Amino acid sequence: MKILKNKLSKTLSNESISFTDTPNKGGDMNPNTIIIHFTAGRSAESSISWFKDPAAKASAHLVIDREGKITQMIEFGKKAWHAGKSRWADRSGLNDFSIGIELDNPGRLTKVNDRFYSWFEKEYPKDVVVEGKHKHEKNVTYWHSFTEKQIDACFKVCKLLMENYNVKEVLGHDDVSPYRKNDPGPAFPMESFRAKLFGRDDDTADIYKVTVNNVNIRKGAGTEFESLRQLQKDAKVEFLKSKLGWFYVYVLEKPKEGEEPLYGWINGSLLQKV
Ligand SMILES: [Zn+2]
Repeated sequence: MKILKNKLSKTLSNESISFTDTPNKGGDMNPNTIIIHFTAGRSAESSISWFKDPAAKASAHLVIDREGKITQMIEFGKKAWHAGKSRWADRSGLNDFSIGIELDNPGRLTKVNDRFYSWFEKEYPKDVVVEGKHKHEKNVTYWHSFTEKQIDACFKVCKLLMENYNVKEVLGHDDVSPYRKNDPGPAFPMESFRAKLFGRDDDTADIYKVTVNNVNIRKGAGTEFESLRQLQKDAKVEFLKSKLGWFYVYVLEKPKEGEEPLYGWINGSLLQKV
């Protein structure tokens, strides 16, 4: 597969790539981030037709079905409407600079008498159910697995996008809209996927805890900046970047109704990796 004029095209006969247009798109953009999603839908076909419906006001650049078949809906140089309200480090509104990849998957499943159902009440056999704890939640829940073919197609397309655009980050929707979104969730092997993509050995999510009480999380990297709040011992944060011994993080706790996830700067000496 290769990219020609912002569109995927086949280089091998066994690749399955098609293009179908949607009105749900914005203007030009220069992508530098990839965001991985699950569709939470019934099938790839139903998700694709939803993304074509103007009433959906939602779309993605790519939809990958469970056989690894890729459908492109929007050229990579145009904005898709996949991330919604979102933020990463000091940038918000990720639709303006990210490529959205949707993987066909119903998402979280509910267990009833040892059987597993999606939100649309379809039953899924046990062998496709993954037990996992979402990184923003306390309890283990049930998720539909992704197929190897699907993850492999997603990997190849991410690699190709990195070669063709200035892509610096591959993130989950749950990274950029924490607590509002839970996709792709614990069934997607995000850490090993990223490590393989960026050629790093250790790319586990950088989660730190606060080592003492009353630690200020500040607007900037220094004590001269306003404190946004105080965190107590053992509060967990996710590392985003560092500057002069200060860490820019977001706080791993569910925001209260109407509040935003808390991002800010903490002195690195008050944090310990967990
Ligand atoms: Zn999503």
